[in-house]
Amino acid sequence: MAERRLSHAYMLLGPEGPARDGAARRLAAALLCGQTEPPCGVCRDCRKALSGIHPDVALVTREQGEKGPKQDITVGQIRAMTADAVLAPNEAARKVYVISPADRMNQQAQNALLKALEDPPGHACFILCAAAPDALLSTVRSRCVRAEMEAERDARQEGISELARAYLEAAASGDVCQVALACMSRAGLSREDTEAFADEVKSAICDILCGRAGDMGLDRARLRKLDALMDKTADYLRHNVQPKQIFGMLAAETLR
Ligand SMILES: [Zn+2]
Repeated sequence: MAERRLSHAYMLLGPEGPARDGAARRLAAALLCGQTEPPCGVCRDCRKALSGIHPDVALVTREQGEKGPKQDITVGQIRAMTADAVLAPNEAARKVYVISPADRMNQQAQNALLKALEDPPGHACFILCAAAPDALLSTVRSRCVRAEMEAERDARQEGISELARAYLEAAASGDVCQVALACMSRAGLSREDTEAFADEVKSAICDILCGRAGDMGLDRARLRKLDALMDKTADYLRHNVQPKQIFGMLAAETLR
């Protein structure tokens, strides 16, 4: 584990989704856990931060409107965050604010954040998660340290495993068509992620069929159906169909 100099602001680049959320949690844990990367994963701060329940890790995200998340992260939200950031941490040595999606901060919000980044309270760290960093002011970008690639890659794989597990659990509790619908909501996955995801699910199915991963409450008929779905996914990918379309086709088929 390497000691590293602590920065007040980090930029985590990548598409919105469980992989980036996982990477942000790991980075938050690393910041609370003795300044090491990767985080130890066993201390109290790590465990709480990794499970998303640490009182000194706050998520700043778009507020929910009636029809889903609102357009922007507002200046009011950023001001509330910076007001909170001057207060002492609850139990850790510092406080971490995860701003996600940071590229949805409007201009005013970014200007308010910039003030905090120029003169940050000693114990405050900010993690900006963004898919389109160009949407951020260059003055904001230049104050952020790019978070390390390796941790991101690990977290990406972790995110896919999580997704594969969620997929199998959904299949255990409900109809296979629900699973395909759940996948559609994840259609932001890249082609590479979708391939990795299909592989993960296949190997999880294989483990269960061979009785190696315990009983997930899936009967064999359902597993075969899932297996067939994954075969189809692989087939579509071979024919250069985009992930979004694939999940759409799978949903349509299973809804039939
Ligand atoms: Zn730790």
